[in-house]
Amino acid sequence: MFDVQAIRADFPILAHTVYDKPLVYLDNAATTQKPRQVVEKIESGYYNVNANIHRGVHFLSLAATEAHEEARRTVRRFLNARSSNEIVFTRGTTEAINLIASSFADECMSAGDEVIVSVMEHHSNIVPWQIEAARRGIALKVIPMDERGELRLDVYRSLFSERTRLVAVAHVSNVLGTINPVKEMIAIAHEHGVPVLIDGAQSVPHMKVDVQDLDAEFYVFSGHKVYGPTGIGVLYGKEEWLDRLPPYQGGGEMIASVSFEKTTFNELPFKFEAGTPDYIGSTALAEALRYVESIGMERIAAYEEELLRYATERMSAIEGIRVFGQAERKGAVLSFLVGNIHHYDMGMLLDRLGIAVRTGHHCAQPLMHALGIEGTVRASFSFYNTKEEIDALVAGVERVRKMF
Ligand code: PMP
Repeated sequence: MFDVQAIRADFPILAHTVYDKPLVYLDNAATTQKPRQVVEKIESGYYNVNANIHRGVHFLSLAATEAHEEARRTVRRFLNARSSNEIVFTRGTTEAINLIASSFADECMSAGDEVIVSVMEHHSNIVPWQIEAARRGIALKVIPMDERGELRLDVYRSLFSERTRLVAVAHVSNVLGTINPVKEMIAIAHEHGVPVLIDGAQSVPHMKVDVQDLDAEFYVFSGHKVYGPTGIGVLYGKEEWLDRLPPYQGGGEMIASVSFEKTTFNELPFKFEAGTPDYIGSTALAEALRYVESIGMERIAAYEEELLRYATERMSAIEGIRVFGQAERKGAVLSFLVGNIHHYDMGMLLDRLGIAVRTGHHCAQPLMHALGIEGTVRASFSFYNTKEEIDALVAGVERVRKMF
């Protein structure tokens, strides 16, 4: 489908060895490796266009401002948002969800109001709502799942009441890989006049996302999971909603005028970007988005689906394996346990073979409770992974299984 070896050449770290073994990096759901293009963008940003942005009258400041705003336009195009005013740079998914939880609850929620989340949410789409629950007496309602790891839409429909103010769900589960039917879920919420926030941390790196087609009010993702740098992420919000919500943090840049008597706030999107933004990070994120676009989201999705199919087939043949997440539509994530082998033991022994996987609760403890387990081993794939690497994983797991 595409030349994987040529792509791998863009990612120097993939050529590393660990413990004298070739590195097999299968922890992409935690963070992805960075192509040369992105790292060079950071370097060239600091060497050639570094100056604090906005308000500057000098050459470098104007150039840095233009680069940051060009990055915003790239994100707008990538998500197919209507306007660049709808793109707010944050530190990542977590900060974007905290921003919405805080500002939305401020504007739209009072004691007794409800937020609907799902059982498979990452802690970063649970705890911010619990903080608001403790502050304001709002309640969380939880969409359960079936034994395949698909959300129960029949129960979801029954969770709405006249107190429901928001639905907040993950597009793709970071543990089960389930691709939730968010377009349908958004339409159901809209039938009740309820806005929706989608956690796109695990979807944006792997599939084409069109926020206008989905019709979500809010959509968030992290740069570091889509081949961009750490410390930068995106909040997309429909302009009428972002206009309505109060600022999250106060400081420079987010104001129109300040006096001790009265302060007025800046227009969108600056109202939500207090302080010096990560303008180097934003331009490197835009470079990462251009990089994945140059491969093509459809081709990425098709290749990763093929990797997942191959991995699932081969791993399922291992004696005593349990795979968690058997949804009809799945992202490139494979969570498993083998016999009674503790997930940490499996992870540590695979590491000695050069294979990087993640173990534990994956910041989804309520999901672990629902599954009746403490944790899993998770292999998660990227377009730079190969079938040979999956063979190495299978051989490694077999070897560990035989040791026990
Ligand atoms: N949501 C999901 C579904 C995730 O997988 C993650 C990262 N593991 C997050 C939110 C949090 O992302 P970040 O730590 O980049 O803010």
